[in-house]
Amino acid sequence: MSTIPVALPLLGEEEAQAARRAILSGWVTQGPEVAAFESEFAVFVGAAHAKAVSSCTAALHMALLAVGVGPGDEVVTVSHSFVATSNAVRYCGALPVFVDIEPGTWNMDPSQLDRAITARTKAILCVHQLGMPCDLSAILAVARSKGLPVVEDAACAIGSEVNLGSGWEPIGKPHGDIACFSFHPRKVITTGDGGMLTTNSPEFDRQFALLRQHGMSVSDLARHGSGKVVFESYPELGYNYRMTDIQAAVGREQLKRLPGIIARRRELAARYQHGLSAIPGLRLPLEPQFATSNWQSYCVGLPEDISQRDVLQALLDESISARRGVMCVHREHPMGSAWRCPGDEPGGDPLCCAQLVESEKAQDHGIILPLYPQMADADQERVIVTLARILKEKRPGC
Ligand SMILES: *Cc1c(COP(=O)(O)O)cnc(C)c1O
Repeated sequence: MSTIPVALPLLGEEEAQAARRAILSGWVTQGPEVAAFESEFAVFVGAAHAKAVSSCTAALHMALLAVGVGPGDEVVTVSHSFVATSNAVRYCGALPVFVDIEPGTWNMDPSQLDRAITARTKAILCVHQLGMPCDLSAILAVARSKGLPVVEDAACAIGSEVNLGSGWEPIGKPHGDIACFSFHPRKVITTGDGGMLTTNSPEFDRQFALLRQHGMSVSDLARHGSGKVVFESYPELGYNYRMTDIQAAVGREQLKRLPGIIARRRELAARYQHGLSAIPGLRLPLEPQFATSNWQSYCVGLPEDISQRDVLQALLDESISARRGVMCVHREHPMGSAWRCPGDEPGGDPLCCAQLVESEKAQDHGIILPLYPQMADADQERVIVTLARILKEKRPGC
């Protein structure tokens, strides 16, 4: 019996040809393919500007710098996320302030934002976790009332949509000030590694162009295309966060596949929702009225009296690869006391934080089931039937 993986990127001959085209063109780092990928991406999400970078982590770092986050500042975000969300805050010398999530959507609970905001708060960093859009209307309302910028960690959310009252719109339009995407192979489309920033602000976009290329005033492409001698200058501290043209060429092919990928992911998620609905005590993910998920991951909540590790092992014994729920950053050693919860001093109990109960439950009782566009219906059926049987066997008293 072959193992069913938890995820699988969809790459083919078109991507291989595109990489070949870039390599044989002689221009391999940030150049014409990056510029074309950016315009196509901006059109896809409906943003005025897009800038490609080396990863979503780099994108988050630059987005926070652009909105003015610096040493001693605070950024309100969630602990329940991949570690890169909080790391980007710390790269700026700022402190992440963690609010809890809502069970079901696994996303930021906007009702906790008010208490989290202090005179030191510089930005709200919300996450569209596992591709499910967070409650942008509520988050933006708080942000506007406090005059705070909103950065969207849309690492997983390419192709997800929201309806905030004026029709369905792609995540990344953006609805906040800046949205950041990832093209890591675990996400919905991939360039090996890579990221993208979208914004409607020409000023932010100008800063991204500088920051990703050593703070250099002229891009290689502009200098190369100029008929006059150009001397560049370095007006700001910059980074090397460039995407290569080889990656961008692959990304352009991935973007063409995206609508098909999303359609199949949504179909598979609907089949899970239906097939798993009869299992007692299993919490299925909730897609709110305002959201359409790309289902980057499909995460269910196990009954709390059943061991997550045992269920994952039992699935693995049946050649089904699943994963535990999203991590909680405050529980990880490198965070030390470089975080706090609303009203608390920095630091706290990393194993059991009273204000992050739902986040901890999501990590301890959530499991991510296999979902990828090439998944055969029969394989998904095997996951559904096997999980149902395992949970029946493990239920205490049965
Ligand atoms: C994957 C991920 C990131 C990091 O993306 P990279 O491109 O690997 O840097 C950041 N935030 C979230 C929520 C993610 O899932």
